[in-house]
Amino acid sequence: MTVYMREMTWPEFAARKDDIIIIPVGSTEQHAQHLPLCTDAVIAERFAAALAKEVHGVVMPTLCYGYKSKPLSGGGPLFPGTIDLNGETVIRLAYDVLMELVRDGFHKILFMNAHFENEAFLVEAMDLVNRDTKGFATIVETNWWDPMPPDVIDRVFDEVPFPGWAFEHAAVTETSLMLYFAPELCHMDRLVDIKNAEPLPYFRYPLYKTDVPECGGLASAKSSSAERGKIIVDSVIPEVVKICKKEFAPKH
Ligand SMILES: [Zn+2]
Repeated sequence: MTVYMREMTWPEFAARKDDIIIIPVGSTEQHAQHLPLCTDAVIAERFAAALAKEVHGVVMPTLCYGYKSKPLSGGGPLFPGTIDLNGETVIRLAYDVLMELVRDGFHKILFMNAHFENEAFLVEAMDLVNRDTKGFATIVETNWWDPMPPDVIDRVFDEVPFPGWAFEHAAVTETSLMLYFAPELCHMDRLVDIKNAEPLPYFRYPLYKTDVPECGGLASAKSSSAERGKIIVDSVIPEVVKICKKEFAPKH
């Protein structure tokens, strides 16, 4: 049977009220020369589907637009193909989807996020829904990288140093995940091996094209492989299963 809500009939979906409803959240954003604009959306949806199989969950349609790409976490808005939403739009979009689920009686909901900048806005929507529905549903937000056990970083970054999560944009982890999930969308022959971008300890507007390496990446994607992608998925999914067991267990 399908894990995707969009492929179900409404009675099939209605029968899943007590199951975990997973909402993948991505972005439409440049991912350097070698990865497609749908990278975050694909990663979010594939993590969600893998999780759904483990917890008998349902995967909602992926939210494919996200909050504004920042120069030093996503390359910023100055690349064609990066389609950003205002923060208020992300909150309202997430709020409306959550409220519709809650109105229909669903009470176990998890955001599987793959776009660094979305987090605060998803959490704000969760807070507002919680307040407006008096805590009817348990709602969890996780980014695929957060539950990753620390030893996985060493196993994946055995050739190049880990640059920090904000710089992991179109770099080793995202490229490895895409090589594992959707190799047909990767163009490894176009990979530009770059020096890591310089982190800034502050924000500044306006943004300049020179804030970001010209190719759009922020750190080297050298050493990326489908095997490393599999290591990440195989280590993250059991951790998210643990989160689900803990948070969605019946409360007394
Ligand atoms: Zn990304």
